[in-house]
Amino acid sequence: MRIALIAHDKKKPDILAFAKENEGFLSQHTLYATGTTGKLIMEHTNLKIHCHKSGPLGGDQEIGARVANGEIDMVFFFRDPLTPQPHEPDISALLRLCDVYEIPLATNKKTATLLVR
Ligand code: PGA
Repeated sequence: MRIALIAHDKKKPDILAFAKENEGFLSQHTLYATGTTGKLIMEHTNLKIHCHKSGPLGGDQEIGARVANGEIDMVFFFRDPLTPQPHEPDISALLRLCDVYEIPLATNKKTATLLVR
């Protein structure tokens, strides 16, 4: 599968923990991420990730384009629901495209863990 990994800043510890706990699973798939999330995970695991631009600089839109082009099969997007994000329109657009194309989407660690199981 082609899997996208994205986390807002306050959720980066969660996605890093998730990536470490599921490194065996993730290593069997093609991984994409927004820039900072992907770099962080690669620094602390042996996973190879295709990094897009950072989310606020267009990375969410780049991953959204992949979703629209049928190039992503699952999205792990750990959102921070308590902090305003400058790129909120990009975030909403990506979530919307996941629903348009019926792409499995986990927005928190517990849901992501269930999807992996
Ligand atoms: P980042 O982007 O991985 O570059 O921090 C995530 C986001 O805020 O969408």
